[in-house]
Amino acid sequence: MFRINDNYLKLTAGYLFPEISRRVHAFTQANPALASRVIRCGIGDVTEPLPVAAVTAMHEAVDALSKHDSFRGYPPATGYDFVRRAIADGDFRSRGCIVADDEVFLSDGSKPDASAILEILGPGNRIAISDPVYPVYADTNVMAGNSGPALRGGGYEGFVYLPCTEDNAFAPCPPKEHADVVYLCSPNNPTGSVLDRAALARWVEWAHAHHALILFDAAYADFIRDPSLPQSIYEIEGARRCAIEFRSFSKVGGFTGVRCGYTVVPKELVGAAADGTRVALHDLWMRRWATCSNGVSWPVQCAAAALYSAEGRGQTRALTDFYLANAAILARACTALGLRAFGAANSPYVWVSCPRGLGSWETFDLLLQHAQVVTTPGAGFGRCGEGFIRISAFNSRANVEEVARRIGVLAPAAV
Ligand SMILES: *Cc1c(COP(=O)(O)O)cnc(C)c1O
Repeated sequence: MFRINDNYLKLTAGYLFPEISRRVHAFTQANPALASRVIRCGIGDVTEPLPVAAVTAMHEAVDALSKHDSFRGYPPATGYDFVRRAIADGDFRSRGCIVADDEVFLSDGSKPDASAILEILGPGNRIAISDPVYPVYADTNVMAGNSGPALRGGGYEGFVYLPCTEDNAFAPCPPKEHADVVYLCSPNNPTGSVLDRAALARWVEWAHAHHALILFDAAYADFIRDPSLPQSIYEIEGARRCAIEFRSFSKVGGFTGVRCGYTVVPKELVGAAADGTRVALHDLWMRRWATCSNGVSWPVQCAAAALYSAEGRGQTRALTDFYLANAAILARACTALGLRAFGAANSPYVWVSCPRGLGSWETFDLLLQHAQVVTTPGAGFGRCGEGFIRISAFNSRANVEEVARRIGVLAPAAV
């Protein structure tokens, strides 16, 4: 009999969001009259339509494909030059970071990139991830065989967990023990925390000392409003020799359905081959794209590039401003109830302490049953998420204002 990848059998995740769906379904079955009242602030999917600049560019791109003289077939596997240039200029060089056009690799999104990057890394790397964590980092490494079995009480054997708690302002600290690869997500999903320059510099220093690789997920970089906070890891001296950065148009441009993102792999970043030779990851990633992908569609690339026009920039700014204002409304409502609310300032997520000593699933249930508001229990992101819920600001203003009213059920004497 052919063999399957046994690593998949270790996965316990796929648990969080299906479990949320199951509870919401059970509630609406039992309370059909309340089903239409349910407001979902659980999953991090956007709600607002695409920026006009992107829509116009996509229309024009489709028209071009409809004519003989402007038709295009396969795109370059790593993206058209003008798109890579717009990105390298707009997100990096304009902020004083050194990133060459051909260090930008366009893709159909950050989640696929974060998963595919493991293809160019060898077996046996020790992986460090935050707790709580965006589940993709953990699960892709389980699938790749970089972990042991699931642990009772959450997590996997073999990973180095970086606790993110109120005590460290939810900022992961470099561990005392060795790791080969560390995932950092800033602004963070789920906690909404942002790593400042000093914290990122400590990570870069740690990576050099350990000959480790930093995988920096900056999917929410465009939500940063505080000018003192770094948006890219390449704002930190020495990062080009130890870090890969992932970016996505999903949140900044409402592209969760359009699908586009990119990865930056600096040319001086090298890893060790089995015989000890140093090999540039840029070469391997280039080879991986040329072999495994035929790139991103022409209309989508045009839409992505349009986000960097003056018009596009104004529109993405308005979009992220809108969600940030939502986050502020939610955070204020929580604080008014005496809850401790984190994130929100430079992030579309509000990370909220549970009231009255309740656990995160208990708080989730209370909000579902008594307010018909769906959140994400912090414990679903890792052990250190217990005692918190995540509320997503990706919603209409009317829904956000309604949620802000309804979470009054979390007040000290409400239910
Ligand atoms: C939403 C999100 C992404 C984006 O993924 P896409 O595949 O580009 O939609 C990446 N990382 C994190 C942490 C996210 O929350």
